Amino acid sequence: MTDQRRNLRLRGTPMRPLDLNFMCNRCNKLRAHGNHTKCSKLRQVESVERRAREKGL
Ligand SMILES: [Zn+2]
Repeated sequence: MTDQRRNLRLRGTPMRPLDLNFMCNRCNKLRAHGNHTKCSKLRQVESVERRAREKGL
């Protein structure tokens, strides 16, 4: 029964810090400046790969 409580706790915590929302962690520039379509695509691929890895573990 203690395991159920743990799951609820993990659900409530945010996965990523919101600080990175306005900064592009691909080219380290403000997301409002320039074109970041490639950056976001790369980031998406990265997150998918990371998720796959986490699932594998
Ligand atoms: Zn970028």
